Amino acid sequence: MHEGAIAAAIVQGALEALEREGLSSARSLTVLIGRLHSVVPDVLQDHYRLLKREQPALRRSRLLVEIAPVRIACRACLREAVIERPEFACPACGSTQIDVIGGREMHLKEILGVRPTADGGRQKKKAKSNSKSQINSSSK
Ligand SMILES: [Zn+2]
Repeated sequence: MHEGAIAAAIVQGALEALEREGLSSARSLTVLIGRLHSVVPDVLQDHYRLLKREQPALRRSRLLVEIAPVRIACRACLREAVIERPEFACPACGSTQIDVIGGREMHLKEILGVRPTADGGRQKKKAKSNSKSQINSSSK
């Protein structure tokens, strides 16, 4: 798929968030994507740039991509840790009895936009997205 479908999901999620927050257009979007999705931020940016041209509300927006680390919880020593290499063992005790507890995130974290006011003026609005802004993606 991968970045193309994710970019489409981001556009969809952003349009829904704008609607929900009563914003007319977005200035910036911050998405948090777990490292396990293996997203290449530059490729995602290219796809987003193409897609946003078709959406007046997003045309002037900037996409910020944050990559969440792969986090594990060790069943043996009960510690939590961040894993840098694709080697699924607890860095503290070496056990492979671990649960992956982070790295699969994918959601719209923040959207900055413009809210039209009654007198025709424009008011900047910063909206924190809630859990309804989950980006739906078929990637596992
Ligand atoms: Zn451990």
